[in-house]
Amino acid sequence: MSWENNVRRVEPYIPGEQPKEKHVIKLNTNENPYPPCPGVKTLLDNFDAGRMRLYPDPDSEVLIDALAKRYSLKPSQIFVGVGSDDVLSMAFMTFFNSDKPVLFPDITYSFYDVWADVYRIPYRQISLTDDLRIDPEDYNIENGGIIFPNPNAPTGVLESIDMIEGIIKSNPESIVILDEAYIDFGGESCLPLIDKYDNLLVVQTFSKSRSMAGMRIGFAMGNERLIKYLNDVKFSVNSYTMNPLTQICGAEAVRDEEYFRKTVNRIIETRENTKKRLVRLGFEFPDSKSNFIFASHKSKSAGEIFEELKKRKIFVRYWNKPRINNSLRITVGTPEEMDSLISALEDIICG
Ligand code: PMP
Repeated sequence: MSWENNVRRVEPYIPGEQPKEKHVIKLNTNENPYPPCPGVKTLLDNFDAGRMRLYPDPDSEVLIDALAKRYSLKPSQIFVGVGSDDVLSMAFMTFFNSDKPVLFPDITYSFYDVWADVYRIPYRQISLTDDLRIDPEDYNIENGGIIFPNPNAPTGVLESIDMIEGIIKSNPESIVILDEAYIDFGGESCLPLIDKYDNLLVVQTFSKSRSMAGMRIGFAMGNERLIKYLNDVKFSVNSYTMNPLTQICGAEAVRDEEYFRKTVNRIIETRENTKKRLVRLGFEFPDSKSNFIFASHKSKSAGEIFEELKKRKIFVRYWNKPRINNSLRITVGTPEEMDSLISALEDIICG
């Protein structure tokens, strides 16, 4: 008998590479290429380090109030966490507490099965259709909860609110978690549905559309009872999760709607332009409404293109997994970064 028999073992999630070398073009973790809004820089420049002596506000009131105002909700309908990974992890622990399997797509955010494993939650992966869509009929089976991103990752495919509402409606005994990490890049949020369905939790992040992946802010929106249950679990694990600097910077970013819209629109424009250029080079992809494109090439393998791009210091994401091992997930960067990507691809493909 060894102490190792009592260890909680799990195969961890592998985040995208954060290269140490300089002058790389980083299109591998769906970060925003633009800085956070100017007010965040001012706050960072002027922050009084003396405040770090004290514990932060455990309720993150300043941030929750700013979010409540922006999304026309009551503060009691919002939960914040250290990145949406933290929020989703808490939500798995809180809401997926059944012997029945939690359902999510086979091609999706690869953290879901890791959380299920670490919390010992049974799960079942539901195959996407051949054109990488969700078939709502597949979710009409016994389950202990449902989660998927919209738009989906890594495909970028957006599903309609009507279809999603159907899934929520036909599963009144389960919590449906909608991971809207990429919704601001052209999708319509299911947020209005939280008033209609008490089993819907909508999760979003500051890491993509608000350019703050390094600050780690995510949030969930739902009816007050769901939020109370989430807080009960959070306050049973760690009360002081979000530091004071993050709380005020997050609130500032939410208030600067103009900067948010400007940078998001710039990314959408670059994405649409990049789609056209990729098609000309012989790439195919499902239409993306996110800040990345999930592309495969007609004649050159994704693995080979991935390695060749890396040699040229351009990082994209590649998974050597069934069904997706011939696609590259390419984050939409600045127009200049996309120029470099396209010329590297021309070189790799046309020689
Ligand atoms: N959901 C999806 C679908 C994602 O792609 C990501 C980014 N890796 C996250 C959640 C988590 O993002 P964050 O923790 O930075 O908010």
